[in-house]
Amino acid sequence: MSNHIEDQLSAYMDNELSETERQQVEEHLNTCTECSELLKDLSEIRNQVFNVFHSVEAPEGFEDKVIHTIGLNVSKGSKWLLVPLISALCFITLTFVLAGSFLFKLGSIMLRVIYNLINVFGNILGSNTYIVVGSVVFSILLIIASSISIKHLIKTEEFRRANW
Ligand SMILES: [Zn+2]
Repeated sequence: MSNHIEDQLSAYMDNELSETERQQVEEHLNTCTECSELLKDLSEIRNQVFNVFHSVEAPEGFEDKVIHTIGLNVSKGSKWLLVPLISALCFITLTFVLAGSFLFKLGSIMLRVIYNLINVFGNILGSNTYIVVGSVVFSILLIIASSISIKHLIKTEEFRRANW
């Protein structure tokens, strides 16, 4: 008999379940080691992903640099630069904020895709844990690799801006 709640765990972690569904999931988790282990693994993966995405932020001192540049330009008397610079600063900050939440959302979508893949692989391969674990590790590596390239992109962008 298979009354497991794997397909609800992701929604459970996202707080997307109704009150009744949430209670059912929690009741099941209290009695089923398999599902609570899975929840533990999923939260761990999610934390890893969150940490990676969280580290993709505006580099430290970035705003200071921009403000410093604005200050420099003002003291030089080129006040006409102030408006576009402030607009640029707002735009950059907004972009980082939006990119941050977008990346986080992207992260949880990816998690769901990976999770579904695990399910599919699990069903196809039965108890071939090695291949399932292998595909999970591969997916995580992919996520980390894409995070690093995004981070690299942002760094390059910042470098370019800081060297006007
Ligand atoms: Zn279960």
